Amino acid sequence: MTDPDADADVDTVPDATAGLGVEVALGDAARQAGVERVVRVRLPTAYGEFFAVGYLDRRRGMEQVALVHGDVAGETALTRVHSECLTGDAFASTHCECGDQLSAALTAIVAEGCGVLVYLQGHEGRGIGLLAKLRAMRLQENGLDTVEANIALGLPVDAREYGVAAEILRDLGVRSVRLLSNNPRKREALLGQGITVAEQVPLLMPPRAENIRYLMAKRERLDHDLPHLDGVRGLLRETKPQCGTTP
Ligand SMILES: [Zn+2]
Repeated sequence: MTDPDADADVDTVPDATAGLGVEVALGDAARQAGVERVVRVRLPTAYGEFFAVGYLDRRRGMEQVALVHGDVAGETALTRVHSECLTGDAFASTHCECGDQLSAALTAIVAEGCGVLVYLQGHEGRGIGLLAKLRAMRLQENGLDTVEANIALGLPVDAREYGVAAEILRDLGVRSVRLLSNNPRKREALLGQGITVAEQVPLLMPPRAENIRYLMAKRERLDHDLPHLDGVRGLLRETKPQCGTTP
């Protein structure tokens, strides 16, 4: 494997970024585990300055990226391990709260002064893939909840695994996190991968009429900690197809 330390072009913080306080610890742990750091590049965003650190996950044949803000090595870093959701993250779909959570997590990390967002490709629809997720959404239109829909398709309720996230965090020098998540299973998964979760930090998004059923199902069927849904059942309503939307 290539040695990212040897490539000054990709792993040396350019002079222009001096003073940003951004350092990423270089190490062999990720490469030994099958995850290779390929590139690190400054990534200015609407939320603030990040470094995008790109990884090749040889074991699973995936490309992954972490956004790093500030100096996180050796710290208990505010961390979001975000499951890819094209419809929510890129299209701002209100079927789920993924896009809102992505935005809120990046905002919180910048406000904190340092932190990491690991963006996990391959996690669409809790790991069933984009097209299967769209099929599951179609079933939800017909009254199934998000768990029932996956089962009806003969697919796992949650096929996500977090080994690569732990490997990326270790490569960044992060062994302890304050985890931005409402999902206790995500916390347990990271613990199982050897990452200390010092605190689980709620990432509660205001529910919308379009996603209240989905959020209720996540709370009742998948054990998500969503106390803010108490008393909002008034948002529940029948969702009827709009004129001209029948595919
Ligand atoms: Zn989503």
